[in-house]
Amino acid sequence: MLSRRQIIAASLAVPTLAAPAIVRAQGWFRAYPFSLGITSGDPSPDGFVIWTRLAPDPAEAHGGMPMSPVPVTWDVSADTDFKTIAAKGEAIAWPEMGHSVHVEVKGLQADRPYWYRFFCGGRKSIRGRARTMPLPGAALQSLRFGVAGCMNYEDGLYTAMAALAREDLSFVFHYGDFIYEAESWHGQPGYSGLPAPKVRRHAGQNLTDIADFRLRYAQYLSDYDLQSARSWQTWFSTFDDHEVQNNWVGEFAQDATPSEIFALRRAAGLQAWYEHMPVRAALRPNFGRTQAYRAARYGDLLTMNFLDTRSFRSDQPCNDGFAPRCVDVGAAQAQVMGAAQEKWLFANLARKDSRWSCLAQQVMMMALDRRTRGEPEKILNLDSWAAYEAPRERLLARLRGLNNVVVLTGDEHQNFAGLLYDRDVPVAVEFVSTSISSGGNGQDLRPGSDKILAANPQLAFLNDQRGYLTCDVTPDEWRTNIMVMDQVAQPGGTLSKRATLTVPHGNPSLSVG
Ligand code: FE
Ligand code: CA
Repeated sequence: MLSRRQIIAASLAVPTLAAPAIVRAQGWFRAYPFSLGITSGDPSPDGFVIWTRLAPDPAEAHGGMPMSPVPVTWDVSADTDFKTIAAKGEAIAWPEMGHSVHVEVKGLQADRPYWYRFFCGGRKSIRGRARTMPLPGAALQSLRFGVAGCMNYEDGLYTAMAALAREDLSFVFHYGDFIYEAESWHGQPGYSGLPAPKVRRHAGQNLTDIADFRLRYAQYLSDYDLQSARSWQTWFSTFDDHEVQNNWVGEFAQDATPSEIFALRRAAGLQAWYEHMPVRAALRPNFGRTQAYRAARYGDLLTMNFLDTRSFRSDQPCNDGFAPRCVDVGAAQAQVMGAAQEKWLFANLARKDSRWSCLAQQVMMMALDRRTRGEPEKILNLDSWAAYEAPRERLLARLRGLNNVVVLTGDEHQNFAGLLYDRDVPVAVEFVSTSISSGGNGQDLRPGSDKILAANPQLAFLNDQRGYLTCDVTPDEWRTNIMVMDQVAQPGGTLSKRATLTVPHGNPSLSVG
């Protein structure tokens, strides 16, 4: 009787265990199977997820893989040279999962780096680094982490990712828009980026089914700057709209596609997101739905609440876009997080076991006046919290008196920093991180920014360059560093620190340095 291992090997149409040694030594793969790199994420105090996807031919259907389960082995080392193996094992790369592998490594020591790698068919992956979390009760004096997202492949190179790879960080929060689903965004209505020339071209058409999404991820992950950041940092991944479709929420497509039809695209997009992110099996979509919101507690210093502001949201009011307030903006039944997630978040905020609480999420919470051309009425971003007054006010009222909340946001493709108010009392600080590439090179200030700054006194900082944030958190102070690229259209772009913004503990306020 054959073992499961032998069945898998036999069904591969690759040399079986009985094949001559010379054949086996040639390996199973025509080409390197780890072409999409490796990464780690969703750490715990005793482990983390390590990820890879077998794709010897990444631009081909199924990454060039046979439609069979394939065993992949892995090990995790306490030293950089794999002399002290701390954990090892075997996982199966299933064709149903695009031959991705998500290993939940356990039994490691808290708050330290490890190194990991994968093996398959006689080939070895590159080496990655991953960090465990401190123990939940640990007295933590400092923590440094990164914030990044919005990576339109067509708009720019991922030079900022290569820079992010070199940062010394406990983790990186990715706020989504890992991929962009359109054939090409340039020239399409609703695109908020600048009409810069294409730097690179998407392969394929608008993404609709799982094969389309897998090929788009494969194109993005073939970028070595992105691979370097993925392999050298430990990620908390979330999704925003472009992992499925621009400005989708809940059951609703951006356009008039019926919900029961749109559900098929959403299921494909979310499965592909799961397949390519270093997240736990608990996030694997169940027939198209996933519960991706979750928390991570860094000692007694910081609780990160990673939110999903897409899956459970009610449809954008007033037909979406940037427009004046309509009556539906005040709808009492409107939801951003949905009832279950909101209840979960409010319970987390009520806990007293962390010095700081962070809401790590996708769309802007500040209700900015977006007028730049002398429009007569206040203009809102209807795809942000500003267009959902009831849930927004409910949350801001909850934050009142906590005086330890920082909100981290993506989506806007610009850096913003400002204060969040419950009526006229400041209750939290929001940092909106720019994009890695979306929107192209940018500049210090976009035309019209003077009007945005003048109309929004809660706003302390605005910038329109590409890059990412790093956050330095101590018991008394939260410092956010705005890291920006001089350009992303050509190789060799350089990174600099544009500003450091400081929030004192106990007093929702901002100073710009
Ligand atoms: Fe984006
Ligand atoms: Ca977005």
